[in-house]
Amino acid sequence: MRKKILAANWKMNLTQVEAASFVQTFLGEIGEVNDVEIVIVPPFTSIPALAQISEKAPFIRLGAQNVHWERSGAYTGEISATMLRALFVKYVLIGHSERRSLFGETDETVNRKVSAALEAGLRPIMCIGESLAERESGLVEKVLHRQVEGGLKGIAADHMSEIVLAYEPVWAIGTGRTATPEQAEEAHAFIRSVLAELFDQSSADRIRIQYGGSVKPENTEDLMRKPDIDGALVGGASLDPRSFAQIIRATEKTLK
Ligand code: PEP
Repeated sequence: MRKKILAANWKMNLTQVEAASFVQTFLGEIGEVNDVEIVIVPPFTSIPALAQISEKAPFIRLGAQNVHWERSGAYTGEISATMLRALFVKYVLIGHSERRSLFGETDETVNRKVSAALEAGLRPIMCIGESLAERESGLVEKVLHRQVEGGLKGIAADHMSEIVLAYEPVWAIGTGRTATPEQAEEAHAFIRSVLAELFDQSSADRIRIQYGGSVKPENTEDLMRKPDIDGALVGGASLDPRSFAQIIRATEKTLK
């Protein structure tokens, strides 16, 4: 049984003061959560303000939006996995489509980051997904296969339960255009079949695959009811503590 995982990707939003205020409101809204794992992924500068959050609410984990593959050295502007671990960070987004399209990340750099994160004891949330042009050209499966194979190259199967994949069709991110639950399920089932082919069935069954792309309270329940959708990576709607709390409530509803 895969525990559903809901992550709030704040992107380049919320100062540390705003982050602390978000958490206060959010904790008041959600109360106790037992069956769903929640990850808050603030910008680096707000991580210290949230570093103790798991002490107050053990079902909430802290995430980061990026990591470098080297442990230390002359890499101006970069942050290492060890630095994140020292701030109680547990998850790290790797290869978000904005990192790929705006900052030149490739399957190869994604793979180096996934390895470095695992080595330091961080859990990668590796993002994959096709563009609109790729979908319209019938290339969805080809692109997803390439991204999964390239990103997880050389990773041992026994790491699979520590890795989360996020299927985020690029055309659905920040556009208000969500994949239908059927489109998302089809992609998730395909990704799981690729994992079974590249690793083995038990690894494929263990790995959690989140959906991301304009998730909001109104569309959460239908998406989360699909058998291969194990959670959501939420951008815009996670900036409002009430709407993120509603997404969690809608997910919990699907477990009853
Ligand atoms: C994201 O940034 O990962 C994302 C899915 O954004 P949004 O929910 O705003 O589409």
